[in-house]
Amino acid sequence: MLLSAQMYSWRLLEWEARNHVPSGTIIKALVAGGEKGPWMRFMRGEMTAEGFLQAFGTQCSEMIKSPVPVGSFFSLLTSGQVAKQFSVMTEAINRIRAEGLKTAVLSNNFYLPSGESFLPLDRKQFDVVVESCLEGICKPDPRIYKMCLQRLQVEPAESVFLDDLAHNLKAAAQLGIHTIKVNDAESALKELEIFLGFSLRKIIPNTCSVRKTMEIPRDSLEKYLKNFLGSQAAVSGPLEVLQFSHGQSNPTYSIRLANHHLVLRKKPPGKLLPSAHAVEREFRIMKALRDAGVPVPKVLDLCEDSSVIGTPFYLMEYCPGQVYKEASLPGLEPSQRKAVYTAMNQVLCQLHSVDVKAAGLEDYGKHGDYVQRQVQTWTKQYRATETSTIPAMERLIEWLPQHLPKAQKATVVHGDFRLDNLIFHPEKAEVLAILDWELSTLGDPLCDVASNCMAHYLPSDFPLIKGLSDLDITQLGIPTAEEYFKMYCHQMEIPAAENWNFYMAFSFFRVAAILQGVYKRSLRGQSSSAAAEQSGKLAESMSNLAWDFAVKEGFRIFKGLPTPRLSTRAYGVWASRRPPLLPDGTRSLATASKAAAPKGVLIISPEALSEPVRDLHHRLERFIETHVYPIEQDLRNHQMSEARWTPAPQIEKLKEKAKSEGLWNLFLPVETDPERKYGAGLTNLEYAHLCELMGKSLYAPEIFNCSAPDTGNMELLVRYGTEQQKARWLLPLLDGRIRSCFAMTEPQVASSDATNIESSIREERGGYVVNGHKWWISGILDPRCQLCVFMGKTDPRAPRHQQQSVLLVPMDTPGIKVIRPLSVYGLEDPPGGHGEVLFENVRVPKDHLVLGPGRGFEIAQGRLGPGRIHHCMRLIGYSERTLALMKERVKSRVAFGKPLVEQGTILADIAKSRADIDQARLLVLKAAHLMDVAGNKAAALDIAMIKMVAPTMALRVIDRAIQAFGAAGLNNDSPLAQFFSWARALRLADGPDEVHRSTVAKMELKR
Ligand SMILES: Cc1cc2nc3c(=O)[nH]c(=O)nc-3n(C[C@H](O)[C@H](O)[C@H](O)COP(=O)(O)OP(=O)(O)OC[C@H]3O[C@@H](n4cnc5c(N)ncnc54)[C@H](O)[C@@H]3O)c2cc1C
Repeated sequence: MLLSAQMYSWRLLEWEARNHVPSGTIIKALVAGGEKGPWMRFMRGEMTAEGFLQAFGTQCSEMIKSPVPVGSFFSLLTSGQVAKQFSVMTEAINRIRAEGLKTAVLSNNFYLPSGESFLPLDRKQFDVVVESCLEGICKPDPRIYKMCLQRLQVEPAESVFLDDLAHNLKAAAQLGIHTIKVNDAESALKELEIFLGFSLRKIIPNTCSVRKTMEIPRDSLEKYLKNFLGSQAAVSGPLEVLQFSHGQSNPTYSIRLANHHLVLRKKPPGKLLPSAHAVEREFRIMKALRDAGVPVPKVLDLCEDSSVIGTPFYLMEYCPGQVYKEASLPGLEPSQRKAVYTAMNQVLCQLHSVDVKAAGLEDYGKHGDYVQRQVQTWTKQYRATETSTIPAMERLIEWLPQHLPKAQKATVVHGDFRLDNLIFHPEKAEVLAILDWELSTLGDPLCDVASNCMAHYLPSDFPLIKGLSDLDITQLGIPTAEEYFKMYCHQMEIPAAENWNFYMAFSFFRVAAILQGVYKRSLRGQSSSAAAEQSGKLAESMSNLAWDFAVKEGFRIFKGLPTPRLSTRAYGVWASRRPPLLPDGTRSLATASKAAAPKGVLIISPEALSEPVRDLHHRLERFIETHVYPIEQDLRNHQMSEARWTPAPQIEKLKEKAKSEGLWNLFLPVETDPERKYGAGLTNLEYAHLCELMGKSLYAPEIFNCSAPDTGNMELLVRYGTEQQKARWLLPLLDGRIRSCFAMTEPQVASSDATNIESSIREERGGYVVNGHKWWISGILDPRCQLCVFMGKTDPRAPRHQQQSVLLVPMDTPGIKVIRPLSVYGLEDPPGGHGEVLFENVRVPKDHLVLGPGRGFEIAQGRLGPGRIHHCMRLIGYSERTLALMKERVKSRVAFGKPLVEQGTILADIAKSRADIDQARLLVLKAAHLMDVAGNKAAALDIAMIKMVAPTMALRVIDRAIQAFGAAGLNNDSPLAQFFSWARALRLADGPDEVHRSTVAKMELKR
């Protein structure tokens, strides 16, 4: 009954004709064998396919006295293309299961030699599958029916059996099972519909049976419909009423009567808040908008008489199409997603462009002060349904009226414009209808745009709308909220509003107020959705989100106070040195203007970066948020596990992803690699903004192949390596296939003074022999570490700064012994670690020396400059992340009756941290800029300054956050403890603070 038996018969007849076998031979042979014949034995699994074909071939040949090629008949029968399940049957099964009933397939079946089932059925459709060949019994044996009933756990009288063969039906009926003979699928289903009492026709998407509390009097509705529709067409047949699963507020129903398919939308039952749930207004606006060409369903009738179904309601035509419930549009291609978002944006613009007067909607809402009135309305609604104090709501109620937008345009506003309120064309990205007009009025259209962007800020597991905040939307093809807003402004030909954050804050505030209403109703038992009870908690989280936007908006206004027009400034404008005094005591303007000529701009915020770098910044940020933060805890656990000295597989996987997305080797400055042969070709300043992002997670730099000490070693090879050295070491390092270490520090001598280094590099028989004791060699324990960049003395008698050389030592050279891993506050930093190592008679070919003997000091200085600034950039990242974590924590942690954030000391700490970070960042950016415009040497003072400032700054910021976290700040559950340890270590690594301070002071004294 699921497949077309007729199709098999036709094919068989065709086959017989083609093979000159008398028509009907096969069927006759199949039946003639009876219970003991090869066919039934095959069905019971008593014969293999080969055995069956042999026996069946003999049987057929004997019948017609001539050979029958049964092999080709079998191939035809089992080709899988003979029949596909009837789509009406698939729909019916879905429907039956949606009503909570069980389904079973009871089949005479066999398996092909390949192990596949003969019947091409999707088994997931059935609760139970009973197959003759597996059970050893065939229909009409009563045992197989009983087996099926038992597995379904139902009595015979509770079941219906459909089959096309009379003897199969008879056996079922004798057991007390209700039976339906299937002559054709359609009429069999009609009979089944009557028996079951519900429709088995195509499922209306997003509908379910009417919920208990939402039932409507069917008789009265049917009478009304027959009356209303009677004049239009013959109205007969059963009335089908289903409820749409969405629509938290005004319950909405799918109504089918005869060939009419309508949608009924009504007020919810019970006592309602004033002016809420006004279905009359919905009816009016939809009618007017349809006339104005906006895609909305066609409304048919408004019934304001509550006596019909208990509340006023209206009817509209059912608009078939596609509703996308998830903002991430699963199952679509990136280009399709983009098209859907573009179509949504366009239809919103179309709505906002409606001529209110011409559409007769001038009195549809008050003119002017829309946002102000909305804030008041939702505040009132919230107060009327308040169940306990939500601190963020209290702050918003105070803040919103003080920050209302000044200029507001008035158009028709939908009030709840979002993706799942739109019906799309099933095949193309075109909006067929905008639904749910309950909150529509005349007002500020930007409120709709903001409300439309809310999903961008909600996580993908958010219970009401599955959002996008934790997904890589660029990869999905979905525009960011910013791009979406820009698209809207472009289409509407308006400038982008600066107070965008206000609109977002308002949108989330309004949702919080609505959810509070739903929650209160759920407490009274009038809620229209099972999810309503959750809304109490959700109201609070929405208000917190709203408050985050309010804070952002506050910062925008604050930043706007001195009205700086640009976030970038020419370096020469403010950092040029004054020209020297001329003998006559004046300064030469000519020299001054030359010295001050701006070579570039100092970009102090990522928004001012060039378009491609901004894109990199954006993608990097999303990558870290989406892929790195979520696995940090696992990575920390890996570092504590027995497997810690092996690379974490998750990092390896993410490296591939980062590489494929072009987020790779971003560190190599364009100045070192002007042809962009090896890196991304960024300036130090551009990289500073990106490196800060990477610093937000201790694991991120490696994922983007931007971690120390590899970055320094790679830059060293690019600058000073021979082509051969580059081919052997640089390329695999750039590819992330191997890792490396840098060995300078020694336990016996004060290594902050590099001239003290004692290890020896002795020339011997055309090569070099290395002997020495090193420690704190980062990365040397990593199993992937294949290169040690070694610093030692080639000539102890040469002038002090020419005694040292740099040698490339392959890690598999005999004589290298890692004695132990060293730990920083107990952290071993696996898998790279920091090793204490002995080099004993390690022999290396001569061509492994870099640049030449005696050039080591020079190379080390060149290597350490960029390395130091990278550490500082990352320290800014540590600090930003730390401050973000601290803010999150103090907003949610309550002590002595109020959130920690409301304690003055916490506020002061936040302010101090913000100021500390911003100061240090400016200094870092200045140093990076100077490296770009004047070179690393000229930037030495600035590099020394940031190396002395950034670690202590980060330590202060992290220390404050740890204090605010309480004991939780010290353990492994957050990155804080590790941030603290590494920030502390960076007061020593790459040179102790004192050395940098002395450099700065000496240079200052020379000025
Ligand atoms: C986590 C970590 C990773 C490291 N990774 C590496 C690596 O990969 N490769 C490598 O070769 N080294 C590495 N180091 C070592 C690091 O570079 C050295 O520790 C650093 O250069 C200081 O050398 P030192 O420890 O010998 O201290 P010393 O030179 O003994 O100095 C000790 C102290 O003396 C004081 N001092 C020194 N000079 C002055 C001065 N001029 N004025 C005033 N006071 C002064 C300072 O307080 C200083 O802290 C790492 C260190 C750490 C902590």
